[in-house]
Order: sequence, then structure tokens, then C-alpha cells
Amino acid sequence: MKRYKIWKRGKIVESRYPGLYAGIVTMGIFGTLTCKSGMRALKKNRIFFHFWRDAVLAGMRPCKLCKPEKLGREEKLLKQKLKTNG
Ligand SMILES: [Zn+2]
Repeated sequence: MKRYKIWKRGKIVESRYPGLYAGIVTMGIFGTLTCKSGMRALKKNRIFFHFWRDAVLAGMRPCKLCKPEKLGREEKLLKQKLKTNG
């Protein structure tokens, strides 16, 4: 099964669920996975988050172009999945 690397409280953990948000370390911003500015960034500069809270903890600001705040509903669903499957 594929595992995804997710940033959580300062550590990179492996999860069976991909992140909802992608951050660009060098720019200090995070957005949706399909954000154009995120896709332009080098792979090594990208980090992934399950939750908005984690991205903010990592010191990132939300992207103004793709508006990641619209993922609130997905985040709720993911939270439930993680609770049942770890
Ligand atoms: Zn964006």
C-alpha cells in the first residue's frame, strides 16, 4: 500500500492518506495540491499536511490564489478516516 509523507508537529510521518494541503518551504505558503504555484515548486521544497492547523504550526501562510480554506469539509472527512484507520 502506498504511504504518504506528511508533516505533523515538526516531524515527517507516514500515512496511508495523502495530504490535503501542500506547502512550499522556500516560500512559506501552503495551498491545495493542485495549486499552480505549488506545482511549479521543486519537489524537494514541498511538504504535505493533513490539516490546516499543522500547516500553520509549521509557520506557513495560506496561498491567496487557490484558497485552501475551501477544504474544510474534506478535512472533516479525513479526520474521521484517520480516527478509524490510524
Ligand atoms: Zn495556491
